[in-house]
Amino acid sequence: MKKNHVEVWDNCLRVIKDNIHYQSFKTWFEPISPLKLENNVLTIQVPSQFFYEWLEEHYISLLKKTISKELGAEGRLEYSIIMDNSVNSKSPYSIKVPTSNKKDTKNPAVSMPIDLNKGKSRDIPNPFIIPGLKKLNVQSQLVDSYSFENFVEGDCNRLARSAGYAVAENPGRTAFNPLYLYSNVGLGKTHLAHAIGLQVKSNFPNQTVLYVSAEQFIAQYIDSVRNNNQNDFVHFYQMIDVLIVDDIQFLAGKEKTQDVFFHVFNFLHQKSKQIIITSDKPPVEMKGMEPRLLSRFKWGLAADLQIPDLETRIAILQKRLYNDGIEMPYEVIEYLAYSITTNIRELEGALISIMAQSSLNKKAITLDLARQMIDKFVKNTSREISIDYIQKVVCDYFNLPLDVINSKTRKREIVQARQLAMYFAKKHTKSSLATIGMHCGNKDHATVLHACRTVNNLVETDKQFRTYVDELDKKIKL
Ligand code: ADP
Ligand code: MG
Repeated sequence: MKKNHVEVWDNCLRVIKDNIHYQSFKTWFEPISPLKLENNVLTIQVPSQFFYEWLEEHYISLLKKTISKELGAEGRLEYSIIMDNSVNSKSPYSIKVPTSNKKDTKNPAVSMPIDLNKGKSRDIPNPFIIPGLKKLNVQSQLVDSYSFENFVEGDCNRLARSAGYAVAENPGRTAFNPLYLYSNVGLGKTHLAHAIGLQVKSNFPNQTVLYVSAEQFIAQYIDSVRNNNQNDFVHFYQMIDVLIVDDIQFLAGKEKTQDVFFHVFNFLHQKSKQIIITSDKPPVEMKGMEPRLLSRFKWGLAADLQIPDLETRIAILQKRLYNDGIEMPYEVIEYLAYSITTNIRELEGALISIMAQSSLNKKAITLDLARQMIDKFVKNTSREISIDYIQKVVCDYFNLPLDVINSKTRKREIVQARQLAMYFAKKHTKSSLATIGMHCGNKDHATVLHACRTVNNLVETDKQFRTYVDELDKKIKL
């Protein structure tokens, strides 16, 4: 019985798989689909011209062997290449690349285009002369202050940080390739990505590290298309040892750029070069990205950066102040850290505003000044009401120091403030009773439930208490 194209290709794949590295197999052979088998010519579909060239350059003898084993001496291979969307066609179309007529001397029956010099003498243009890319070659675009040293460690970033550190010690040789860092804005992705790049440069001065934002990558690609030097563009990126692409989500919907990035990615990964990607979402939640690209993002490690806890926020502010040689009363630092909870960039922004205010008006940095600033700051940014914020409002209202809520004190007024904080946290946040308890003096959910009941009872029976609650409620919602 005659075999069909799928069976033939399956058999080939089985042999190929045994002969090459697993990762190479995944990269270069899994994306291929067999199209047809006619007159002893097997046609396989490859995702792009680049793919085709790569196969021809690196796997030609293996392919030849397996094809002739399957189809006999007369067997031929033909590629069908999916072309990028052209301007006026919406769906990808294919062009056929027939095998060349050049005969291979060793195995004359199988004819395939082979250029023995390919690869050896391939002339990679000197990237220093690529117009528009000059700057990248002189510098890695890394910001010195975004170092590991300046990156405060906390529970929120421990995994990502240690993975990043491992990568910097051993770029391209850990299981974390690509290293995919994700989080909401302002939580340290860019900082950490730079830190890895800086550390690689200090560990391995000969490695070429490049930091590029996805937006820059897109702009450069568009330029290269306009100037008709896409090959230079691709070759340039293929020479990087550690490639950092920040905010990859901007590639969404940009199919051509994704395609080019896909090739760069494969090339670098294949050569055990390190790739670091940041994004605002985990790979599974990315929209507008080609599945084959997303699947590659999952090869390594995806680690997220979470909202830092109070302690980490304070440590971050202290580090900033220390680096800038500025002193600030601890209560002000604490106040800031309490007030701005979900975005480190905003936290630093508030710090800077306070310093600017104090120096402009020659006022000392006091809690009062901080309060005024923060009130403006926090009001201007639409924020979710956090448990920390509620605690701050409650403590301010009763003129209590901020940390009493978390203390063990059983003084009546403090117990009451704690109960109010719990009550408002239940009312205004989506946090569970257990979470609220944990944030309010490490209590359990039953204590929180009890607090809510107590407050409700008091509101109904105690007029003065009801006034407190109403006023507090207004302040919290402000
Ligand atoms: P993202 O890229 O996630 O939007 P950034 O890396 O730009 O966030 O971080 C925002 C700001 O917060 C930067 O100034 C950065 O230095 C600072 N930052 C973030 N995380 C930390 C940290 N763990 N320690 C010190 N500073 C941090
Ligand atoms: Mg960023």
